[in-house]
Amino acid sequence: MKNLVQEIEKLKKERRAVILAHVYQPPEIQAIADYTGDSFGLSQQAAATNAEVIVFCGVHFMAETAAILSPEKTILLPALDAGCLMFDDMIEQALKKKIQEKPDAVVVSYVNTPAAVKAMSDICCTSANAVAVVESIARDKEIIFVPDRNLASYVQEQTNANIFSWPSCCPTHARLSKEELQAMKEKHPQALVLMHPECEPEVRGLADFIGSTTNIVKEAKRSPNHEFIIATEQGVLYQLEKACPEKSFYLASDKMVCSNMKKTTLEKVKSSLIQLEPRIIVPEETRLRAVGSLKKMLAICG
Ligand code: SF4
Repeated sequence: MKNLVQEIEKLKKERRAVILAHVYQPPEIQAIADYTGDSFGLSQQAAATNAEVIVFCGVHFMAETAAILSPEKTILLPALDAGCLMFDDMIEQALKKKIQEKPDAVVVSYVNTPAAVKAMSDICCTSANAVAVVESIARDKEIIFVPDRNLASYVQEQTNANIFSWPSCCPTHARLSKEELQAMKEKHPQALVLMHPECEPEVRGLADFIGSTTNIVKEAKRSPNHEFIIATEQGVLYQLEKACPEKSFYLASDKMVCSNMKKTTLEKVKSSLIQLEPRIIVPEETRLRAVGSLKKMLAICG
């Protein structure tokens, strides 16, 4: 593995590339990244970097975001089959229909939606800034919030906004049940529960803290507590253990693993740097319509 990492480092310099990795990626991928973060942090980084090539270690829609913001750069997705189970292929058509039904509504879409959905949106959001984005919209407006119903209900609780939520959710977070979390709390009675807002509402009721992955790491660092139950995707444990080696972290459920996020391997990263493939290209017409919704988000929360 050491040789492989050295080869990647060498190729990265030759290609004038940066590696961006989502915090749900496997530990060995996060370890070689120039920047790790949640989807919001990665979208900021993709927009700001001067590198000619971005190796995006995440899922397809995240790499599309980088391609939308930086069309002049080469965006590589080492694991081209890394999708997201939150969407089906019909989302674009279904959203079009919903917009026709509610022509005055403001469409807020999660940053990890297909480019075609971003192109139909007024503004994007991430789990880190969804509350701020919704608060930036006039109170009398109805909001179509796409696609995570759990994030939508969390934002609704925080803002009282008039939200129509899409009936999808992130299966990785929805897998955590109230019973399983209760059992973990009994097993670790001193631990605080740090949770992602994409968990089901009845499960959120058991959390001590709710926030994006970045804010979960910040809270673990800030808190004087020494034990934590982590209710988000397993990859975050790498960041938590690096940031707080003296503290103990327990994954709320061993089912909280996103198979798509684990498709990136060091071999695939190396191969993408050699071949400059697989490349993510968003058709220009879609990109031009999608970039506005991303830029609006970055202007409010960037
Ligand atoms: S963690 Fe959830 S939202 Fe993220 S890629 Fe996996 S299924 Fe999709």
